[in-house]
Amino acid sequence: MPKKQKTKKHPLKKFIRRAKPRAPRPAAESAEKPKRTFNLLRGMHDVLPREEKYRKPLYQSALELADFFQFSRIETPIMEEAGLFIRSIGRGTDIVDKEMYVFEDRDGNKICLRPENTAAIARAYIMHGMWNMPLPTKLWYWGPMFRYDRPQAGRYRQFYQVGYETLGDGGPAVDAELILIAYNFCQDAGVPVEIHLNSIGTPEERKNYKTALVDYYRAKRGYLCDDCKARLHKNPLRLLDCKNEKCQPVKDEAPQITDWLGEESKSHFMKVLEYLDELTVPYTLRHTLVRGLDYYTRTVFEIYPSLTGEAGAQSALGGGGRYDLLVEEMGGKPTPAAGFSIGIERMVAAIRAFNEANGLRPPAPKYDLYLAQLGDSARQSALRLLNVLRKSGLKVSFNLSKNSLKSQLESANSLQVPYALIIGQKEVQDNTAVIRDMESGTQEIVDQRKIDNILKKKLGKM
Ligand code: AMP
Repeated sequence: MPKKQKTKKHPLKKFIRRAKPRAPRPAAESAEKPKRTFNLLRGMHDVLPREEKYRKPLYQSALELADFFQFSRIETPIMEEAGLFIRSIGRGTDIVDKEMYVFEDRDGNKICLRPENTAAIARAYIMHGMWNMPLPTKLWYWGPMFRYDRPQAGRYRQFYQVGYETLGDGGPAVDAELILIAYNFCQDAGVPVEIHLNSIGTPEERKNYKTALVDYYRAKRGYLCDDCKARLHKNPLRLLDCKNEKCQPVKDEAPQITDWLGEESKSHFMKVLEYLDELTVPYTLRHTLVRGLDYYTRTVFEIYPSLTGEAGAQSALGGGGRYDLLVEEMGGKPTPAAGFSIGIERMVAAIRAFNEANGLRPPAPKYDLYLAQLGDSARQSALRLLNVLRKSGLKVSFNLSKNSLKSQLESANSLQVPYALIIGQKEVQDNTAVIRDMESGTQEIVDQRKIDNILKKKLGKM
């Protein structure tokens, strides 16, 4: 009697057995104990596919701009020592006084979720001795920031920023190049913007200006809102940020910082304006623009959508400026620098507002063809073909969950693809496929092995 051959045990068999689905609990039992559902933390939001379709082109444009203007990507951690931001941004600012997520870790270190990224980049620049690299050092980033702000439209507690920073060059061409990048980023997204611009000089120039500003505001104390009365002592430059109607007449007549600039700061600013004129970047001089952070010197700017109505009145899409002293103050070598960041959620809101106002839709993805299949074995061939088509650089749409040819061709139609590729039982047996010209409706049968080349030829991709 022939010896019974021992069948080889499948190496995954024990796992397969274990993975057997458990019998569902009786409905009555689960109805008794409703499961707790979880909500988002206040001020947080999920980026769902419907928002991602706006964010993806923004990311691609950020990447292209970085490549063209020769910026390298830097990714710093979202958690840093709290002191890094307290020292660089400064006490008396909203971010440090009210908005930082600060907590102790298990070792008792005071850490925070980054409220912005410039200080972290200055920290990384010093830590990794980047001044030894050819100057200037040009870095860009894209990532989440955290501010414990009061949530409202366009204001979240976690939001994304894209930013570009140039370290090691104090010349005005750097300021203009950065403003150009910010401007191009918004233009690529189709959002018309204008740049608000000012120079806040050096710390000495600002000191003299602050004295004049405080003297002026003290004389008008009776006409000020309560916040401004406090700002007068705490952070006088923030007086110029006040949005309260009551303070506007006082603000309009306030001394202008540009009158306090020394020769060097003045000529730096004039040169920036000259470059922007040359580039035809639209800008408006705003003598009340000071930015909320301590580290800025000379040029400061903000980007506003030039839309009318509610969307136009929205707050800034982004902002930035020079910070010539920050790296030295953080313990590094003297390193003039400048940079800016743009809020991604605000950009998405501006694109949506612009599209709505102009009856536009977000750009739909473009495909070369639709792959339709009929039946189980056709689905298997379709999967194999998908891989072949992807490798030959064709963009294919498909839905392996659909079974009806009618509904798959309807999808092909609504995607406006030029061709559909159809595989049924017969095509699997013959190793063929049907190419359907979606416009004329004509069909031809082709050999599956030649399909990529045939399609590429038809699509003019060869
Ligand atoms: P800032 O560093 O405050 O000048 O912020 C730069 C940009 O980041 C702003 O112009 C906004 O687009 C965005 N941004 C700042 N704070 C928030 C926030 N709480 N929620 C959403 N976006 C924000």
